[in-house]
Amino acid sequence: MNFDINNLVRDNVKVLKPYSSARDEFEDFDTADMVFLDANENPFSSGVNRYPDPQQASVKSILAKQHKVNSNQMLLGNGSDEVLDLLFRAFCEPKVDNVITLPPTYGMYGVLANINAVENREVLLSTDFQPQIEKIFNAIDENTKMIFLCSPNNPTGNSFSEESVTTLLEQFKGLVVIDEAYIDFSEKESWLEKMDQYPNLVITQTLSKAYGLAGIRLGICYASAEIISILNKIKPPYNVNELTQKRALQRLDDTNAIQSEIKLIIEQREELLKVLLHVNYVEKIYPTEANFILIKVDDANKRYDDLIAKGIVIRNRTTQPLCENTLRLTIGTESENKKLIEALQN
Ligand SMILES: *Cc1c(COP(=O)(O)O)cnc(C)c1O
Repeated sequence: MNFDINNLVRDNVKVLKPYSSARDEFEDFDTADMVFLDANENPFSSGVNRYPDPQQASVKSILAKQHKVNSNQMLLGNGSDEVLDLLFRAFCEPKVDNVITLPPTYGMYGVLANINAVENREVLLSTDFQPQIEKIFNAIDENTKMIFLCSPNNPTGNSFSEESVTTLLEQFKGLVVIDEAYIDFSEKESWLEKMDQYPNLVITQTLSKAYGLAGIRLGICYASAEIISILNKIKPPYNVNELTQKRALQRLDDTNAIQSEIKLIIEQREELLKVLLHVNYVEKIYPTEANFILIKVDDANKRYDDLIAKGIVIRNRTTQPLCENTLRLTIGTESENKKLIEALQN
């Protein structure tokens, strides 16, 4: 497939001259003995009186090492939600272009499509929650810019078959965005390894789930250097703040802590799966590769209310397509899960 990203970029973005911040113009800004009088900052040192690095070089360099990619194949955002929004703004002409999403899935894709006045063509997953490739290709037209694949998928918990993802990557002429928010809980490989093979592959990850940093808001987009340079043109200059960059660096350095928490969460998930088998109103337990479990119950609204009354908040997914009477349970600590189990069994 001969793929030219320039065929996908919005015309206004193509000709856009990005805002150039003081810190963009002088890149080596943490050179220790320089005097910085260029950005109208308060000169009194507090750790955060200076604008943050707009390119987050330190965070990117550690991520680049850990994931074996180049820093120029990476864009960081204020959560993956910002990264996803930038993709819409770079590639989708409002009221002209469309994207494809595969419900039941993460609600933000549809919300972002609406905010950006981009048509969202929904192609339901199959009953076993896999992409329906033929239906997807029927929905695609010359204005289809992106397909969103959430794998492992929220709220179903499964990942998509390698075969269907590969078919889309090979045959769709727009961007295939794979949201890997839950990849660290899965035994499957990340699609990152295939990035050099597919010029239309975009992968998003986040520090919000396995990395335990939902509060700092840091999302990552991995893609070809060409795609990343387009996103860089339109991103707000200081979209990742200094406190976030510092905290992310600390955490990324502590790979042992991250891995041991992931391991504990997976152990708790397996425990909970066993218990759920014996809860009489649980009608189905969906296979999961994430830090949550989707279950089908007799009456989701009733079971949801019962749990709330016992002080336990879960997610009721009953209104989602193919998810009637389903509940999504996030895996907590061992003691939180004990409380959940007790409440489920009563
Ligand atoms: C939680 C979640 C995210 C994370 O979004 P952030 O903005 O990075 O916190 C992204 N995608 C999916 C599918 C999620 O469930």
